[in-house]
Formats: sequence, C-alpha cells, structure tokens
Amino acid sequence: MTMDSKNPETLALHAGHRMDAASGAVAVPIYQTTSYQFQSTEHAANLFGLKELGNIYTRIMNPTNDVFEQRMAAIEGGVAALAVGSGQAATTFCILNLCRAGDNFVTSTDLYGGTWNLFANTLKDMGIEARFVDPSDPENFRRATDERTRCYYAETLPNPKLNVFPIREVADIGRELGVPLIMDNTAAPIICKPLDHGAAVVMYSTTKYIGGHGTSIGGLVIDGGNFDWEAQGDRFPTLNGPDPSYHGAVWTQAVKPLGPIAFILRMRVILLRDVGAAMSPMNAFLFIQGLETLPLRMRAHNENAVMVADFLKGHAKVTKVIFPGHQDGEPRRRADAYLKGGYGALVGFELEGGKEAGRAFIDALQMIYHVANIGDARTLAIHPATTTHSQLSAEDQLATGVSDGYVRLSIGIEHIDDILSDLDQALAKA
Ligand code: PLP
Repeated sequence: MTMDSKNPETLALHAGHRMDAASGAVAVPIYQTTSYQFQSTEHAANLFGLKELGNIYTRIMNPTNDVFEQRMAAIEGGVAALAVGSGQAATTFCILNLCRAGDNFVTSTDLYGGTWNLFANTLKDMGIEARFVDPSDPENFRRATDERTRCYYAETLPNPKLNVFPIREVADIGRELGVPLIMDNTAAPIICKPLDHGAAVVMYSTTKYIGGHGTSIGGLVIDGGNFDWEAQGDRFPTLNGPDPSYHGAVWTQAVKPLGPIAFILRMRVILLRDVGAAMSPMNAFLFIQGLETLPLRMRAHNENAVMVADFLKGHAKVTKVIFPGHQDGEPRRRADAYLKGGYGALVGFELEGGKEAGRAFIDALQMIYHVANIGDARTLAIHPATTTHSQLSAEDQLATGVSDGYVRLSIGIEHIDDILSDLDQALAKA
C-alpha cells in the first residue's frame, strides 16, 4: 500500500502491510516457513539472479520480517531495512559490509560494552581496526581518518554518561571526506531520527524499546539511501568492486533499477546469506506487536524519566543525577538539538555511600527489576560497578563514567507514583 504519512504513530500501525493477500488478515501473519514454492524454473532462476525480487529462503528473506523491515524504514525515513538475529549481529554486519582485513573505521569511545568488545577484540582478530576517539570533539573523527577508513560509528544516547553524540557535526565531516556515519539509535527511537541529521545508516538492538515487551532478542539496520557510494569508488570496494560470490556483481550498479539500496541489499544477499544471523519470523511478529505502540510508549517513558530525574535531584542521598535534561553547556545543546519530545528514559545517579550503598539500593528494590537490560516497558535498574563494569579496573570504570555509587535506571511506563515510591523506599536503605 502507499503510505504518505510521515507520522510515526500512523506508520507504526500501517506501513508495509494492509492485509494478507491470501486471507485478508489484518494482523501481520507469521510466515513460519523455511522455503517458498517457485512458479517455474525460469522464476527460480530469475530470483536467484536478482532479475526479479521475491522469496527464496527464510535465512535471507521472509514476508513477516519484510513488514517489520518496511515499517522501521518508513518510521526512520530510510529506503530499506534488514532485520537480523540481535543488535550485536546488526553492528557486526554494518562494519563487515564495508570493511575487509586491513581496513579501519573510526568509532566513538562512548559505546555499549558488547560493542566495545566486538570492536576491540573480535574485529581486531579479523584484521579490522577500530580507531576509538573521544566524541566531545567531533574533529577527532577527521584526525583519525585515512584512505582505508570505511565508516564512522557512534551511539545517539550512550550510557552511562548519557552525552548525546554530535550527529550532524560528525556526519558533515564524513560527507566532506566521503565517509558514512552509522548510528546506533537503540536508546533513542522516535525521539531522534539520525538520518535527518546526516547519518547514512541507522541500526537498532530491537531487543530494547522497539519490542518493549522484553520477550525477544533482535537487531535491525536501516539504509538511509542518502550516501553516494560511487563518488568515492576506491573507499568502498565491497560495494564498487566485482563480487566473486555473486557472478562478479557490482552492487552499486546492480541495484540501479531498484533504487539507492546497494548497502542493505549487499548486507542481505551476501552477509545474511553467508553468516546466517537471521531473525525468526516469530520474533519479527513480536517486534511488530511492540512497534505498534512504540510512539505512545516513548512518550510515557520520557515523561516518567523527567519526573524520576527531578525526584532524584532533590534527594539527600543522591550526590549527582546524570540525565540529558539536567546537563549544561555543550552536552545540553546537543541533547536539545538531537532529541525531540523528551530526553529518553535512561537516568543515572550517584549515591553518597559508594559501592555498598549501590548494592544496598539494588537489593532493596521491590517492583523495579534488577537486570542487565534497558528499554523494557518495566523499570529496570543495575549497579554497573559490581556487575556490567566489574571486570574493568577502577580507573577504566571512571573513564567510562561509572563511579562506585553509580546506579543506572531504565525508566518504564508504570504509574509514576509507583516508580517513585519504590525508589524512595530503596533509597532509604542505601
Ligand atoms: N547497542 C546498544 C546501545 C545496546 O544497549 C545493546 C544491548 O544492550 C546492543 C547494541 C546489543 O544488542 P543485543 O543485545 O540485541 O545484541
């Protein structure tokens, strides 16, 4: 169906699906099938030769996943998307789609720990160099760029520091040098659209807010269709050179009749085909259910987070509140420039009593869950110094923004009175 609306509330319910062609079903059916009957040998040959687009095998495409992909691409303002098995798979695919052994990419130091490990260790072992730079000065990205730099990578709203990334500034440097910016927008769906600020690609761990229900692990990559891969032919050999695994196809040429989808098409037909980190149709269905209410949920998340941050600021045992809406100076300017309709739902705070107080606070929580996740409809808490960051030295913990008494909250959509009441009683014991 055609969908002219640009409003996420509408797109989340309507983009990519009107009804099932076979049954008229309004809900998106779960196409729990591995394979698809070809109409003829010619049809099969055309599909494999990409002369015709259509379903071949669920590892590389599936009609349920397709609706999820179309919906996410529409909401984000991109041209196409690819759903994969996890956020980690999405990040890995973003880098492997552009980098080969001997290449490098420049990444912000403010990253989710799993992404840090992937970049610093696993990709390094594969011969791909991640150049970590401090995002407080966007020019650091320019300084770290050379002729083998294939992309820039960053998170919109990275925790624990919660300093919003300078998307436009770094995207502009990249466009000047011919380097695309890939944004992990996991913590800021709806409130930030990185493609509007010059990013070329957006990725999500859909495990978090997109699902919201905390039932499924998933990832998704959206191609902005706004980056000229051909203009700097030598920088992108994976897209501009002949691909020996597909009869010498040159992806930027092969997609010409289909639109500016070289990046995402290669990711699907090469990486997903070969590595196989596919999202199951059942999980795509569950993410579609979550997505339907995402704009509404984000409003409730944002509103509750502001009230929690204000409450914590006035509490005697809290020495510091980390929240974009409470920042000053350049971090605040960036938060206001890139987040619209709220400051997200992550709130950090430091307890006067350090590590022991952090532990006591977490143990005293009654409603709020103690889990290593964010973006659930329920409120979640964790004490990073004794869990997620416990393997780091005290010095490295501080460098990443984790002090002994730091507690991270992912504010849910319960009634605010109940969230504040649980925080209040747990703080009394901290
Ligand atoms: N990116 C961010 C910002 C995350 O918080 C996470 C997970 O916590 C990931 C990526 C990885 O996602 P997944 O757990 O779905 O693999």
